Amino acid sequence: MIPEIEKASASEIKAFQEKELKTLLVYLNTNSKFYQQVFKTHNIDITSINTLEDLTKIPTTTKDQLQVNNDDFLCVSKTKIIDYVSTSGTLGDPVIFALTDKDLNRLAYNEAISFACSGVTNQDVMQLMTTIDRRFMAGLAYFLGARKLGAGIIRVGAGIPELQWDSILKFKPTYLIAVPSFLLKLIEYARQHDIDINQSGVKGAICIGEPLRNQDFSLNALAKKITYDWDIELFSTYASTEMNTAFNECEAQQGGHHHPELIIAEILDENDNPVKPNTVGELTITTLGVEGMPLLRFKTGDMVMAHTSPCSCGRNTMRLGPVVGRRKQMIKYKGTTLYPPAMDNILNDFNQVESYIIEISTNDIGTDEICLKIASKEQSTKLLQQIKDHFRAKLRVTPKIEFHDKKTIQKLQFPAMSRKPIKVIDKRKTE
Ligand SMILES: [Zn+2]
Repeated sequence: MIPEIEKASASEIKAFQEKELKTLLVYLNTNSKFYQQVFKTHNIDITSINTLEDLTKIPTTTKDQLQVNNDDFLCVSKTKIIDYVSTSGTLGDPVIFALTDKDLNRLAYNEAISFACSGVTNQDVMQLMTTIDRRFMAGLAYFLGARKLGAGIIRVGAGIPELQWDSILKFKPTYLIAVPSFLLKLIEYARQHDIDINQSGVKGAICIGEPLRNQDFSLNALAKKITYDWDIELFSTYASTEMNTAFNECEAQQGGHHHPELIIAEILDENDNPVKPNTVGELTITTLGVEGMPLLRFKTGDMVMAHTSPCSCGRNTMRLGPVVGRRKQMIKYKGTTLYPPAMDNILNDFNQVESYIIEISTNDIGTDEICLKIASKEQSTKLLQQIKDHFRAKLRVTPKIEFHDKKTIQKLQFPAMSRKPIKVIDKRKTE
């Protein structure tokens, strides 16, 4: 089930999106307090926005604006809201999203075509290994998508390897929906309890939250570790609450496919201009068909590269490469630009490394410093040298590396009030 528009030519897709954009602009101008103000302040006549190129005439929307003016983004009366979702903001308070009945249908459609893109059919059963409550959108989206697709779904939730395996052995799911590093925990549990993972019937996993591939789409260290033990296909899905939309890999596994009926995607440089082809930039999105809280030119903070050649799966839509990193976590180190995920990838190559924290700070001369704090079963100068050599080979630079005991790292990873473990501590002074 490939939507017709995704098989259309690039110019047909563009024309389709431009028509949808015009509908959105009228909707925002009528219902969104925030965007009414933007259009007024910047003297924007919405009838003058006709092409995707014209979007640059409209200022971008930042996460901070969304947080500070949260209520002004709401386009419907409270009685039309069905589901409330929150996402962690950058300024402390969470950002609230409200979904109407129509938005929930849109979310179901989005997830159904995204699952289908990764090869899931109504013959499959999926095991959901993420949270469905706690005001998260993702788990709900997966449930609604599976239902729309006609696939079965087992809502086990996050964690608890014992219950996960009990469900896998009992219900024989064909796909798992999980954070990839959790799959390593499942493999470990199976090993300890004599479960033959390759007889479990699981064909694949839809992976969220962590990248699976390098920029050339080869499997990264984490994905290699998983597939070394477990003969399953890994599909990446990239999504966020603000986007209300997912980008899933198809069977070609050459990036997450764009769904043109749901979202407009721009890749922008630091001056909010579109980047040149084959260049990394910040993903900036405009939601289509959202009723409750639509967003126009919203900067996601994620640095990605777009791939535009037609895909072997029959879709002609743009594909997003693996997220290179968060824009705010960009590090300029000894003449090289790098992001923490590149360092995760290197440290994942060392089985001795149990846990770690990447600490970024500003040094006396005002440039970035990196210190890796590592808890390791082995704390030898030999291992230290191996890690340094690996860094030099892969990233051309070597950060400062320190060994610490497991408890110290754990304390840093789980500060009070944090919902999930942190991997990066950014102590740099911001403007
Ligand atoms: Zn494809």
